[in-house]
Amino acid sequence: MLSRQQASSMASHQQCDTYAWFSQRAWVEIDLDALSHNVQQLKQFLSPHTKLMAVVKADAYGHGAVTVAQIALQAGASWLGVATVPEGIQLREAGIQAPILILGATHTSEQIQAIAQWQLQPTIGSPKQALIFSNTLETIQHDSPIPVHIKLDTGMSRLGTNWQQAGEFVQLVDRLPHLDIASVYSHLATADSPDPEIMQEQHRRFEEAIAQIKALGIKIPSLHLANSAATLADQRLHYDMVRVGLAVYGLYPATHLQQEINLKPVIQVQARVTHVKTIAMGTGVSYGHQFIAPREMRLAVVGIGYADGVPRNLSHKMQVLIRGQRVPQIGTITMDQLMIDVSAVPDVQEGEIVTLLGEQGKERITADDWAEELNTISWEILCGFKHRLPRVSVM
Ligand SMILES: *Cc1c(COP(=O)(O)O)cnc(C)c1O
Repeated sequence: MLSRQQASSMASHQQCDTYAWFSQRAWVEIDLDALSHNVQQLKQFLSPHTKLMAVVKADAYGHGAVTVAQIALQAGASWLGVATVPEGIQLREAGIQAPILILGATHTSEQIQAIAQWQLQPTIGSPKQALIFSNTLETIQHDSPIPVHIKLDTGMSRLGTNWQQAGEFVQLVDRLPHLDIASVYSHLATADSPDPEIMQEQHRRFEEAIAQIKALGIKIPSLHLANSAATLADQRLHYDMVRVGLAVYGLYPATHLQQEINLKPVIQVQARVTHVKTIAMGTGVSYGHQFIAPREMRLAVVGIGYADGVPRNLSHKMQVLIRGQRVPQIGTITMDQLMIDVSAVPDVQEGEIVTLLGEQGKERITADDWAEELNTISWEILCGFKHRLPRVSVM
C-alpha cells in the first residue's frame, strides 16, 4: 500500500500507468485542482463578509480530511467543521491551525479535556451540556474560557435547544464561567427541496430566536444557518458564515440548484482489470448465478468490491468506463472484486484501468448516478470510500 505522502508525491494521471501503480488493484484519486476550484467558486458566490466553513467530517466525505482541509484553507475557506473530537484532533496533529467546530455532541470529561487541549470548538445544544462543560473546565482548572457554539433546533429535530427557549438558553451560557459564546447556529432540514416552505419557516424561527437574544442585550459574534443547499438556494440564509460540505466535493445537493455555480467532482474511483476470460453462452457469473451469459461473452474481473465502497446493491445496475467506453457490470458484486462485460471492447488486457466514478474521454459517471440507482443520496456514496482504498492526489 502507498502512504498518503508517497501517493501525493507521485501525483499525476500519467504516473498511474507506471510499474509502481501496477501493484494497486484499486485506488481513489483526489483532484486537488477541482477541489480548489469548488472552494473558489463558493467563496466568489458569497458576499465578502460571509466566511466559508469547509465541512470535512467523515474523513472529508471519503476524500481524506487532512488533504482536503489544507487545500480548502488555501483556496479561501477559513473554518473547518468536523463531527467528532478525534476528527478534530487528526487535523490538529497534521498542523492545521484554523478554527475547528465540532458539529456533533460532546459530553464526557475526556472529550472536554481534549477540546480544551487541542483548541477545538464544541457545539453546545442544551443547558445541561453547558453546565457539564463549565463544571468540567472548573475541575481541570482550565485558565482561559473556551469558545462555544450555541445550537438551536428550528425544525431539524436533531441537536439543539428549541428556538423558543433561545433567550434563556443563551443567557444561561453567557453567565457561565469558562465558556465564551462564539456563535449561535441552527441546521436546515429541507434546504435541498424545490419547495422552500419549511426552510422559510426555519429561517423565520431563527430570526425570532435572534430577536429574543438581542432583546436581552447579549451580543453574538457570529450567526450561521446554511449547508450546501441553503448556500446555493438563498443568499438571505448566509449570515456570517456558511457550512459547506457536499459542494466542496463538487456535487450539487439538488438538480434545481445546478445553475448557481460551476462545480467539478473531486473524486475518481479507479481499479484494474485483474483477469480476462471468454465464457460460453449459458455460463453463470458470480455468487448465486444471478447473471447467466445470454451468448458467448468476454468477461473482465476488476479488483474492487463492496468492501471498498462499491455498494453491492448496484450489482447489474451499474456501468464502468474502460478505454473511454461505457460497459455493463455483470453478476453479483463481491467483497473485493466484480465482473464486467467487455465483449464490445477489443482485446482488453490485464492491468488496464477501469473507472468506476469519474471521467474517461467524453464519458462521465458520478456519485449522483449511483445514488439515483440506489434511491439514496450522493453524500452516502462518497462516504463509502473512506476506509480501504489508497488515496492519490492528482492535479
Ligand atoms: C454535515 C453538516 C453540514 C454540511 O452539509 P452539506 O449538505 O454536505 O453541505 C452543515 N452543517 C451541519 C450541522 C452538518 O452536520
